[in-house]
Amino acid sequence: MSGTVLILGGGIAGLTAALHLSASGHSVTVIEQAATVGGRLCQAPPPLLLEAHHATWSLLHRLGKDVATRRLRHTPLEFLQSSGARIQFLHLPLPSPLNTLLGTTLFQGLSMRDRWHLLSFLERTWEQDPPLPNDLDLRAADEWLAGIGQSESARSGVWNCLARLLLGASLSQVSAGLFMRTLRRCFLTGAKATKLILPSHGIDSFLLAPLKAQLATMGVQFRLNTTATRLQFDRDRVTRVDSTDRTSFTADWYVAALPRHRLTPLLPERIVTHYAYFQQLSRLNESPLVIVRLHVAQAIDHTQLLLLEQRTFHWMIRHPDRELHEQAAVVWAIAVEAKDLITEANEALIRLALKDMEAAFPTPASVPKVIKADVVRQPQAYLTPQPATQQCRPLPRSPFSNFFVAGDWTDTGWPANLESAILSGQRCAEAISA
Ligand SMILES: Cc1cc2nc3c(=O)[nH]c(=O)nc-3n(C[C@H](O)[C@H](O)[C@H](O)COP(=O)(O)OP(=O)(O)OC[C@H]3O[C@@H](n4cnc5c(N)ncnc54)[C@H](O)[C@@H]3O)c2cc1C
Repeated sequence: MSGTVLILGGGIAGLTAALHLSASGHSVTVIEQAATVGGRLCQAPPPLLLEAHHATWSLLHRLGKDVATRRLRHTPLEFLQSSGARIQFLHLPLPSPLNTLLGTTLFQGLSMRDRWHLLSFLERTWEQDPPLPNDLDLRAADEWLAGIGQSESARSGVWNCLARLLLGASLSQVSAGLFMRTLRRCFLTGAKATKLILPSHGIDSFLLAPLKAQLATMGVQFRLNTTATRLQFDRDRVTRVDSTDRTSFTADWYVAALPRHRLTPLLPERIVTHYAYFQQLSRLNESPLVIVRLHVAQAIDHTQLLLLEQRTFHWMIRHPDRELHEQAAVVWAIAVEAKDLITEANEALIRLALKDMEAAFPTPASVPKVIKADVVRQPQAYLTPQPATQQCRPLPRSPFSNFFVAGDWTDTGWPANLESAILSGQRCAEAISA
């Protein structure tokens, strides 16, 4: 054994760290406050997988090739604009960035003028003439897109929809730097850029179940229903973690794989005020998310993703309901920054979701019967990627030599999503193993 590691939090970041650390010979214990592991992912719709999500693909391959390749078909990216127009971004079977550039040229969601401004901006960026401004992380994406010639209708009908899908916030709330980097990674790099995959089987069977099974065979210990309440420090190390059941845990290394707002209350006041690494965490914020899931009596054969402009929900996913029965579909209606919606009653949210569903997936005959509906509310779902907050996201190594921080909100270069969480767990494990 290379030493003992205590991981706080059994979300995907903590589980990924556990997998890598256990594989490199560490004895790993995970403490998790809930009765099961998986964290926020347990409530999530099928996650959007892009070719650029290298850490996610590498984890899936590690869990078995079959898991990574099973029934994973390309899902077209489609917009429903406020005018009622439905427009698809074409995924062309060409190498990147040609497929994106040609796809953009043909994309009817942007006016000719917007496309021309965009393509000439891309050409200039490619040639670094002039170089990108270095204050992009301090500016809002909306203002910056207007500066490169994108009209209000392009920003509202295309860019805002993409910002919500990829970064979990609207253009005015997103830093231009992170928006640019995310779009570049998703659409301009890798041979299959623009290829989107939405696994239609649940996240549990797809990712969590095989991961849990692998961790169990590797001897990772889980302490479920155990909430960490305090981290104890001496001069330059963490010495112990106290928990609600009055047990204290000690290890050689500690990884906090918790949401940001759950980490800071565990730290002594003197640590938070003394170290900039922890102090700056108070400048980060999370925003609320509401999801309505509708199981409907409708046989469909493929998965659809639709980004909605100026509707209650911001995007919808519809896929065959393999877990219920063959003649059914599941529709996920997702609203980010849902401050107003989060307090609405379930019945009202379901009604609103049905209204958007009818617009998104119109049927020639009657509206399909709803078999079952449920609502997920997450008051602090995602880190808001506001301007000037990128530099406050922490790197894995803390100022304490045996203490590391993981989680989707940490500084991975990605918005706070599945890829970011997996990457953060992997990086903590690498830092400890190094
Ligand atoms: C409804 C919803 C939909 C989403 N949809 C998508 C999507 O489509 N695509 C995508 O890429 N991402 C999506 N996400 C984001 C994705 O789920 C997260 O980025 C990812 O799951 C975060 O993983 P994590 O391990 O960093 O954090 P978490 O999953 O939050 O894990 C932290 C764990 O720590 C535990 N914990 C907290 N405090 C304590 C404590 N004191 N002691 C012990 N344990 C504690 C929690 O119970 C939790 O299990 C969605 C999130 C939500 C909520």
